[in-house]
Amino acid sequence: MKIDIITLFPEMFDSPLSHSMMKRAIEKDLLEVNMVNFRRFGSGKHQHVDDTPYGGGAGMLLKPEPIFQSIEEINQRSPMTNKRIILMDPAGKPFDQSMAEEFSQEEHLVFICGHYEGYDERIRSLVTDEVSLGDYVLTGGELASMVMMDAAVRLIPGVLGNEVSAETDSHSSGLLEHPHYTRPAEYKGMAVPEVLMNGNHKLIEEWRHMESLKRTFERRPDMLEKRKLTDQEKAWIKQWQEKD
Ligand code: SAM
Repeated sequence: MKIDIITLFPEMFDSPLSHSMMKRAIEKDLLEVNMVNFRRFGSGKHQHVDDTPYGGGAGMLLKPEPIFQSIEEINQRSPMTNKRIILMDPAGKPFDQSMAEEFSQEEHLVFICGHYEGYDERIRSLVTDEVSLGDYVLTGGELASMVMMDAAVRLIPGVLGNEVSAETDSHSSGLLEHPHYTRPAEYKGMAVPEVLMNGNHKLIEEWRHMESLKRTFERRPDMLEKRKLTDQEKAWIKQWQEKD
């Protein structure tokens, strides 16, 4: 996968790209990341990339030309790739795991990181997606794009050591992940559930499924509204409801 990041702060990406999964993806040639500092396309001696809004009001807006020129440069450098051009925007569609899965299957992602008060509206004509990291406002799009990139890159086949672990992650199956335990079997009076130590894989799978559902039922009931529950799942939920 290729990723281009259009940003005023390319150095912010140095650390995330040189550690853990992103580093591994780059070393395995599964990922190529390129920075486009759009300051290069700014105007005048001070390479301005922002200007005041027509109609007045507080704050500065990103001018269209530097972003259009950044996309042109990426198109010239990679003319043949299918590109998903993603605008970082708190007013965009909320990012989630299914979006991370979609992004992980793309050939070429381009993230546009905003700054200041926002974008000249014409910049939106360039993009395929407008995406928000969540219902809060960050100073710029850099941190948001790092999170999205990380969530997508770890799903590229071959990046994670054990691919099964991505499939059972919270949100991948529509449920939160079940609890985990490692040695010691007892710690400060807290014991590992017996079922995990008896080697019966069918029972372990059933316990994990039930605990996963229970955690989702308790913490994120909204997630269950989208799920087609099995008869077994309905029976477990009925038990927990009757207990309350
Ligand atoms: N005035 C804008 C608004 O109310 O929508 C917020 C601008 S914010 C200070 C500057 C830039 O940070 C945005 O253009 C966007 O690129 C990025 N940003 C801020 N919050 C974000 C979020 N929740 N998700 C994605 N990007 C965000």
